[in-house]
Amino acid sequence: MTLPRVKILINREKCYLCGSCVAVCPKEAIIIESEEWRFFQEKCIGCKFCILACPVGALTAKEVE
Ligand code: SF4
Ligand code: SF4
Repeated sequence: MTLPRVKILINREKCYLCGSCVAVCPKEAIIIESEEWRFFQEKCIGCKFCILACPVGALTAKEVE
């Protein structure tokens, strides 16, 4: 089964850079660098673990082609 490709979007007003999403991502598709949350589309497999892990609901997924 292939998961749909998604882009993970962040609400920067909610995110407090706790790192939970970084910790659960199996592909290192999210990093926090210089106090900035960053997403790498090419690494993401669309598992959405990051969305489930975020304690403040700052992440959402948008399907992409
Ligand atoms: S959907 Fe999965 S692979 Fe993509 S950024 Fe979130 S945890 Fe990582
Ligand atoms: S889990 Fe949520 S609050 Fe924590 S760094 Fe990721 S997006 Fe930000």
